[in-house]
Amino acid sequence: MTFNFETDYLVKELKKIKPKKVLVQLPEGVKQNAFEIAKIFEDLKIDTVFSGETCWGACSVGVEEAKSVNADLIVHFGHAKFIDVDFPVLYIEVRDELNLTPWLKKSLKSFESFKKIGLSYSIQHRHDIGKVIEFYEDNGKEVILSDKKGNVAYEGHIVGCQYSGLKSIEDKVDCFVILGNNFHSMGAAMSVDKPVFLIDVYNDKITNMEGIRDKILRQRIISIEKLKDAKNVGVIIESKIGQKFGVSDLIIKKLKAKGKNVILITMNELSPDKLMNFYYVDCFVEMACPRIAIDDFAKYPKPIVTFKEALVALGEKSWEDLLKMGIV
Ligand code: SF4
Repeated sequence: MTFNFETDYLVKELKKIKPKKVLVQLPEGVKQNAFEIAKIFEDLKIDTVFSGETCWGACSVGVEEAKSVNADLIVHFGHAKFIDVDFPVLYIEVRDELNLTPWLKKSLKSFESFKKIGLSYSIQHRHDIGKVIEFYEDNGKEVILSDKKGNVAYEGHIVGCQYSGLKSIEDKVDCFVILGNNFHSMGAAMSVDKPVFLIDVYNDKITNMEGIRDKILRQRIISIEKLKDAKNVGVIIESKIGQKFGVSDLIIKKLKAKGKNVILITMNELSPDKLMNFYYVDCFVEMACPRIAIDDFAKYPKPIVTFKEALVALGEKSWEDLLKMGIV
């Protein structure tokens, strides 16, 4: 176990805030540590309720859940702040104290022909990023961190739905190196037109993401074409507070103007089961996490497009515009 829950900082903040009851949100990989985390709150005599909902990112801030259990604070572990919400939230980013050196050494071989690397990291590696840069520079590389753009919290920080910070340095680098997981590096590979390498310390793998971009772009073109041909369309909005990627009224108006029948659907989290019974829907447009439509292409029996892709299907944007913006 190499996770550090920043207990000193957490305790200091809790003593300052003095909550009576907290809702604790843990990312999926940290739910196994619930008892260890519960002890911290118990020792401070703070009532605690753990959220059992999925928490894939800081887009999922459980404000309604917190209100429903009368909590006066949310403690959100494992992500950096992503959005402003109208409720007190304490973010505990969680550090992984694993020694990265063996993977950094191993990674050099993968991109030995590239000099300038664009570097992005997932939040648990933030405290190590100075050492990572130093290591690569000592080994003859030039390192540029991805820009802090959109909702990312720091320079170099990567989030699965925000790749503008990578796109903005794309012209200055020969390749990208992502210190994170497959989800982050897939998003990067789809968004930039330069080689992307993943350093995944949990699966002990250095992966060249070559080929992913072409495969995904082909799937996206197919889905966009399906929306063009669809007669009946379901537009999905999620109630998750940070998953508002698009303007449903606009899309509905434009789809109707093209003669399509449209229904608006809301849900907390998209799943194939929930969509299954909307039998006569030919294609869905989702305004929730854009990665659902893209990454889960094969899981859904009906095509799903994102807001940006719907604009392409409707002729409001070109495919080239979408590539320029980044498909995520
Ligand atoms: S919207 Fe999707 S990609 Fe973005 S933070 Fe949430 S779960 Fe991650």
